[in-house]
Amino acid sequence: MKVAKFGGSSVASAEQIKKVCNIITADAERRLVVVSAPGKRCKEDEKTTDLLIALADQYLLKGSAEAELQKVIARYEDIAQNLNLGTDIIEEIRADLKARLAIDTNNPGLFMDSLKASGEDNNAKLIANYLQSLGIEAHYINPKEAGLLVSNEAGNAQVLPESYDNLYKLREKSGILIFPGFFGYSPEGTLVTFPRGGSDITGAILAAAVQADLYENFTDVDSVYVVNPNLVENPQEISELTYSEMRELSYAGFSVFHEEALAPAVRASIPVCIKNTNNPSAPGTKIIAKRQYALNPVVGIASDTGFLSIYVEKYLMNREIGFGRKLLQILEEEHVSYEHTPSGIDSISVILRANQLNAEKEMRLVERIKNELKVDKVEIERGLALIMIVGEAMHQTIGIAARAVSAIQRSNVNIEMINQGSSEVSMMFGVKEEGADKAVRSIYEEYFEKSYVEEALQNPYPVRS
Ligand code: ASP
Repeated sequence: MKVAKFGGSSVASAEQIKKVCNIITADAERRLVVVSAPGKRCKEDEKTTDLLIALADQYLLKGSAEAELQKVIARYEDIAQNLNLGTDIIEEIRADLKARLAIDTNNPGLFMDSLKASGEDNNAKLIANYLQSLGIEAHYINPKEAGLLVSNEAGNAQVLPESYDNLYKLREKSGILIFPGFFGYSPEGTLVTFPRGGSDITGAILAAAVQADLYENFTDVDSVYVVNPNLVENPQEISELTYSEMRELSYAGFSVFHEEALAPAVRASIPVCIKNTNNPSAPGTKIIAKRQYALNPVVGIASDTGFLSIYVEKYLMNREIGFGRKLLQILEEEHVSYEHTPSGIDSISVILRANQLNAEKEMRLVERIKNELKVDKVEIERGLALIMIVGEAMHQTIGIAARAVSAIQRSNVNIEMINQGSSEVSMMFGVKEEGADKAVRSIYEEYFEKSYVEEALQNPYPVRS
């Protein structure tokens, strides 16, 4: 049995939904299908989820939102008409949205989640309806009835462990099962959504629960690329990645997957395949536990902006027992999570996502570090980008860092920080945001452009004995 998840652009229009249904029916093992809400039909278009958020916001503000409601319904009308579905399904969707708008607005989080989730819920009903109209046995699955239980954190749900046994029973159902992505229910019966992009999470949970042979994630690109295609023209495609390589790449900005989306599939060792709805015969990218290493130990290069560093200096820091703990405890007490802590003998930097510190919090943190830790210096540096070079085979190869450093040097960008994770799956370079793209292009050339690759073939990377 395979679980197939189709993202927003794959279900954005009647034409796309026809492609989806052809893909589903082409393989009898594709029995459990997760769908997103209709996404963008073209670059300038709006996602249904964004229309629903605007609808909920307006309703919370004014107590009515006719124009916004009509915009949402129009998206489904357009799809239903072009699939020759008749008007019943649209009336059902209209009634559903009206019922959601009638929910108590005293808890805006729950109200918002219910409206957001309607995007996938109604799309799942519509797609099941379309398959049925073609004479195919298909069923819409209600996540509440199926037992997808989640924590009660609006917009940030986490799956509860009992869901897996509940959802395993879906294996016994006949026909093609269409399951809406993006939400589940708290044990008290309240609808709660996952973070944005959360239909990937639903797919991974279902794949783990039914012990699928494969979790197929259909999107609008042929594969995962070694580098962001907006930075480099026609970058190489990645045919295979390990779970930890994918995790490192998503962390540093590869938007193929929500960063935490794969976790349930990884824990259950379900292989994942990224495929293209618009070109389903392309082999796609497989994400698996172990892969055969190719000649090139580097599998991908990612970069992300929006980091800051707290630099702390204190003479004889290395001799002071408990210094690191006290510093991190201040961050904990201020509810700030940190990403990395590169350090020297008398200094330590703590790298964080910058959006966690507003001016007031920044001032408080600096004061606390100065006063409570009696440091010689504390400085905040904003505008940092992190570049990650990822590949499991790097840990047994000599000279990878040297090549990365000389590539960054060629791009004339200064390296602010270097960090090789203890697992050696990735190497990380901190640079100023304005230099990040240049540096990434140069690193790509170093590891992937023909002339360099040929040179590497003649002088293969020495492997550590
Ligand atoms: N529709 C939701 C979003 O736009 C969830 C998803 O598509 O994965 O975030």
